[in-house]
Amino acid sequence: MEKSKPQYASQIKSAGIRSTIIRTAVMAALEDHPHSDTETVMQGVREHLGSASPQAIYNALASLASKGLIRRIEPAGKNALYELRVGDNHHHIVCRSCGLVRDIPCIVGRAPCLSPSETAGYILDEAEITFWGTCQDCADKAKNSVDDFSAASS
Ligand SMILES: [Zn+2]
Ligand SMILES: [Zn+2]
Ligand SMILES: [Zn+2]
Repeated sequence: MEKSKPQYASQIKSAGIRSTIIRTAVMAALEDHPHSDTETVMQGVREHLGSASPQAIYNALASLASKGLIRRIEPAGKNALYELRVGDNHHHIVCRSCGLVRDIPCIVGRAPCLSPSETAGYILDEAEITFWGTCQDCADKAKNSVDDFSAASS
């Protein structure tokens, strides 16, 4: 699913905001690096544009997120992360060791996908779900260091 900058420009315009080179570069940077924090987005934008002020990038992230063109996720204790994949209510799994974030499809597919036993009169629109665990690489590393240890001690 290759997306080009002109497509971003028209997506931005149809959301009712002006398409600027910073905004399209932010979306292009997120295409290269999904689940990027602000710092990574800045590096990506600079790859595309050469230079850009941090403030301009903050502003672009905020306006794109408020128009639903990008999604902002905030795993507990981590920097806010941004991604292009919007509208499918997918969830995230975060590695406790290295922080790697992966998309996990939502079985229900729309928010909220969990219903509490009572709502205290609130009208619910979302259940924020983040799964936490250990990624394959970190699990393998942990296993190997245990193997090394038992090999050394036998
Ligand atoms: Zn990991
Ligand atoms: Zn995601
Ligand atoms: Zn779900």
